[in-house]
Amino acid sequence: MPACCIINCISRTDNAHKIKLFRFPKDKSIRQQWIKACRRNEKEIKINSARICSLHFANECFEMKWTMPRSTNVSATEICRLKKNSVPTMQLHVEK
Ligand SMILES: [Zn+2]
Repeated sequence: MPACCIINCISRTDNAHKIKLFRFPKDKSIRQQWIKACRRNEKEIKINSARICSLHFANECFEMKWTMPRSTNVSATEICRLKKNSVPTMQLHVEK
């Protein structure tokens, strides 16, 4: 199971089914801000597998999108997406 990169994040133990994990963005400057939010250095984080969970983004960072069904017997589902250029700002300093 992938886990959130934020130190002491409660998503590891609590309410895990409600929480979404997001991959690091490709955009370099935004990615730097994600890394900073983790309070780790770039070498410590495996960017390709690292995730940050939805607890660390403000509500306005999310948008709902309908997926395109791949075939006629699959119905469209609404998914929660992270808006481009969103940066984690919430619950970054969680005490144990
Ligand atoms: Zn988290």
